[in-house]
Amino acid sequence: MKITKVTTLLLKTPLAEKRFYSSQCAFPERKSLLVRVDTDAGLQGWGECGQYGPGEPVAAFVHAVLAPRLLGRDPIDTSVLWEDMYCAIRDYARKGTGIEAISGLDIALWDLKGQFYKQPIHRLMGGAFRDRIRAYATGCYYKEEDFRDRKAALSALDAEATSIVNSGFSAIKGKIGLLSLEEDEERVRVIRQAVGPDTLLMMDCNHAYNAGVARRMGRILESLGVWFMEEPVVPEDLEGYAMLRSSLDIAIAGGEDEYTRYGFLECFRRGCLDIAQPDLCCAGGITELKRIEALATAHHIQMIPHVWGSAVALAAALHLNATLAPTPHTAFPRSPLNEPMLEFDQSTNPLRDEVLVEPFQLDGDCVLVPQGPGLGIEIDQERLAEYLDSKTECSL
Ligand code: CA
Repeated sequence: MKITKVTTLLLKTPLAEKRFYSSQCAFPERKSLLVRVDTDAGLQGWGECGQYGPGEPVAAFVHAVLAPRLLGRDPIDTSVLWEDMYCAIRDYARKGTGIEAISGLDIALWDLKGQFYKQPIHRLMGGAFRDRIRAYATGCYYKEEDFRDRKAALSALDAEATSIVNSGFSAIKGKIGLLSLEEDEERVRVIRQAVGPDTLLMMDCNHAYNAGVARRMGRILESLGVWFMEEPVVPEDLEGYAMLRSSLDIAIAGGEDEYTRYGFLECFRRGCLDIAQPDLCCAGGITELKRIEALATAHHIQMIPHVWGSAVALAAALHLNATLAPTPHTAFPRSPLNEPMLEFDQSTNPLRDEVLVEPFQLDGDCVLVPQGPGLGIEIDQERLAEYLDSKTECSL
């Protein structure tokens, strides 16, 4: 089998009045950069990348740098092709755009490999520890009201958290870091009140704090029974991460903007994380995430991958999560103690909810791992075309 064509499809859909905010930025639209790899066997593999910044530079990187290296190659050789791509860009792109581009292509190669062998990706990765993954809902972002009407904002937050648990989730993650410590504490209290004491609650700071302020917020979160504190400080502040991990009881999570096994090795060596959150579509794809998992388990650190983006990213994450060993082994593994969870974004995103022929299947608070060949999903390409912003192809 030979790779004959690489196509990037940049999808965008405006959120208009549904725009939302993290501590760092507004989300005025949802977007995804999908990568499609065609072969002479008639198979098409799908991947996703370009999630954090604009998708255009990642698409350019795919076409100008990486796709020419893949054309004519056999997609089955995922490790060989990963190394070939990485070594070609090592001198100038060890983090960020170049690794995102590799990630999207690598996922597409694994999708092809699964289709070729007629097996789901998780089987080719060594098998599934579980056939369903407990999902936690990511939501409770800031909204326009947070800037003008505090009472309305808290009331909307209460309604959103209530609706998430009413829809069957037993775990939820919200946002802090944009407002004062007191105002954000009130947000966490409102969510805790809405979801009740038995719902697992996590909070994400999106690296809003310096280490001293993060420690104060960590103590507030501990008093409200929050399970983990995500990205308390900027990703460069490894000393800050290590200080927080040793001085707080709450679990410290992070890593969604770290890249490759080399980046994670440094985080693990320096004792930064209780929970590592590499993102498949950014940190290096399926090939590299399994290596990051090996490093994480060698440091006895749990992995609960970060997930963001379209249905393609979600499908890939389900396969990966199925293959993550409990950390550590017990006779009856339980999330969040030693089992991974699936980050299941619940903010508005038609690219996640409307582009598959068959939607993901849920069972209670779990999402079932697709069992079909490759990613095990069928993309509705007509539907996809409705969101197409730009398309670029290169072929043999
Ligand atoms: Ca996050």
